[in-house]
This record gives sequence, C-alpha cells and structure tokens, in this order.
Amino acid sequence: MRYQQSRDESAEILRRALQLMSPHEAGYHPLSYTVWYEHAGDLNPTLSQDLDKLIGSVGVLSDSEICRLHALHIAARDVEMFELAQRELRELIGRTEQDTAAAEGTLQTFTETLAHTTERLAEPDPQRVRTLLRDLLAQATQVQSTLRVLHAQLAKQREEVAGVMERLERAQTEPLRDPLTGLVNLAGFRRAFDGQDDPADFSQVVLLAVDIDYFKRINDTHGHVIGDKVLVKVAKILREQLAAEDVAARIGGDEFVVLLRGKTLSAAAALAEAIRSAAQRSLIVHPDGAQFAGEVTLSIGVASGREGDSLETLRHRADAALYDAKAAGRNRVSVASEVEIRAR
Ligand code: GH3
Ligand code: MG
Repeated sequence: MRYQQSRDESAEILRRALQLMSPHEAGYHPLSYTVWYEHAGDLNPTLSQDLDKLIGSVGVLSDSEICRLHALHIAARDVEMFELAQRELRELIGRTEQDTAAAEGTLQTFTETLAHTTERLAEPDPQRVRTLLRDLLAQATQVQSTLRVLHAQLAKQREEVAGVMERLERAQTEPLRDPLTGLVNLAGFRRAFDGQDDPADFSQVVLLAVDIDYFKRINDTHGHVIGDKVLVKVAKILREQLAAEDVAARIGGDEFVVLLRGKTLSAAAALAEAIRSAAQRSLIVHPDGAQFAGEVTLSIGVASGREGDSLETLRHRADAALYDAKAAGRNRVSVASEVEIRAR
C-alpha cells in the first residue's frame, strides 16, 4: 500500500499510533508500527474491527497477536496483489517465449537453405542459379514477415506489461474499502466481480441496487453524525443478511450494491425484502439518547444477470428497477421485469 497522507497528517497519525500502541506488549518494531499506523489513520477498517474486537476480549495485545494482525490484514493484502501481477507476467513471458521460438524455427530453415544454396552456387547452369536465388529471396521475404509479426507481438506484449504495471500501481494507491462502513467501494466491488471463476457467466448472479430513501432529509433533520450512523447501520444489515459468497459495496453517498451468487431471482427478491424490512425496524440512536424508529427506509432494485452481461449492463437494469421503486413511492422492492413484489 502506498500511503498518501501529507507530512503533517502522517505526523499526527504517528503521534496517535504511538499513544495507542504504548499500553500493549508488542515491541516498537516496523510490523507493529504499521498495524497501529493503519489503525490510527483509519486506513484499514477490517484491521481496525479485528483489533478493537481483540482489545475488547483480551485487553492488552501481545507481540504475536500484533504480528498475526499484520500477516492477516497488511502482508496478505500486498502478497495477493503481487501474486496476481506475478501470474500475469509469467503468462506473458510464456507467450513471448513461444513467439520467439516460432521465429527462431523460421530463421533456422532460412539458414539451412542459405547453406544449401551456397554449396550449389558453383552450378554451371545460370538458369539453375537464378532458380536457387529466387527460392532464397522467397525465404528471405518469409523471414522478414515473421520478424515483422514478432515485432508487432512484442509491441503488444509491451503494452500488456504496461497494463499490468498500471493495475499494480492503482492497486497500491486506490483504496478498495469505504472507511466509514468497512464495505468494499466500487473499485473493490469491481475486483470481486472480476474475480469470479467465470467472469463471462452472469446467468448465475443477481444484483441488488439499494438506496436510502430521503437520506438528505435524515441528514437535515438529525445532522451528519446521525446520517453516518444510518449508513453504518445499513451496511451492518447487509452484512447480517448476506451469505459468505455474496458481496455488498457502498458505491456512493447513500447508494449500495449487492452481488448475490447462485440464488434464483425470487430468492433474491425475498432477501431484498428482508433487507428492506430490517432497515425499517432499525433504531437510530441520537447522542443525547433519543431514539428514532421507522425513519430509515430503503428502495431496492433487483436484476438477474444474463449471458453476455457486463457489470455495467447488469447495474443499468438494477438501477432502472430501483428507479421504479422510488417512483412508486419508495420503501419497496422492485424487480427488473418491472413486476413489483411489495408495495407499502
Ligand atoms: P431519494 O429518496 O430520492 O434517494 O433521496 P435522497 O435524499 O436519499 O437522495 P439525495 O441524492 O438527494 O441525497 C443523498 C444525500 O446523501 C446527499 C448527501 O449530502 C448525503 N451524503 C452523501 N455522502 C454522505 C456521507 O458520507 N455521510 C452523510 N451523513 N451524508 C452523506
Ligand atoms: Mg437516497
């Protein structure tokens, strides 16, 4: 991960990190700095969640616990990224080797023909010599075209290497998680999507487009701190309702998407309804203790994937269904076939 904080920000994070780490038993070594730095800077929400949970259960953290957190949440992230790049580069080198070997074969044949022709140039018959030279020229032309193809392939592969390097660079700088809710953001969601066994097979997935109703009003009425709590609550509901193979993401202010795998459209719509209902039952607790119920409602669009879909086309249909749910009065689930399954 590349840290992008300014010098002053990073100094402030370091100061907080030192304060936070001092009561614990881990030594002041680079692994523990990194863990506490990412925690203090709110840079790694899943690390922070695990760390808070551990402190809650054991109080003082040992060196081995800190090293385990480092391995799990920091080293694993970098290893995963480099393994992917390594795999892609290895494949590319394999292809370059094959192309070069093919070109080498053509050159070998040419060299043999050249040797053969040289031996026979003493021929007295000029007609024979002309034929030999014509054959030689034909082969030289073939070698030239093989080298031209090889050159084009190498140029293409150089572009692919640049692509891998760019993705690596992006993976280092582009955070994949939303720090507020701990859900993945759009970039993380896209990565989960691309990581499917068969990215082309969309017929096994259903997408939910989830949006909080009148969220601006919640902010305006109760303030942004409560608004943030509502976002965290919606993320928690999504996590609770989803199976391990599903992925939820916060992709914008009050917009979420959920990728469901291996569920029928009706099972997905039922799950969307359970999410909608859980949100409506949730309580908003104000810092002064006042509680508000029934104010968080969700509109949800449901669309099932089709063969040949891309994330964009599938999202487009789920968004259209979400729009229908909003237009029909909000606090409801609508499926992409525009058949509404619930209206309140
Ligand atoms: P609709 O029912 O049509 O979805 O209306 P809405 O009010 O939910 O939608 P709108 O897009 O008008 O408002 C979304 C609001 O979300 C506006 C923006 O200030 C707020 N918002 C965006 N990001 C955050 C955030 O991180 N925290 C908080 N508290 N509010 C945010
Ligand atoms: Mg909204």
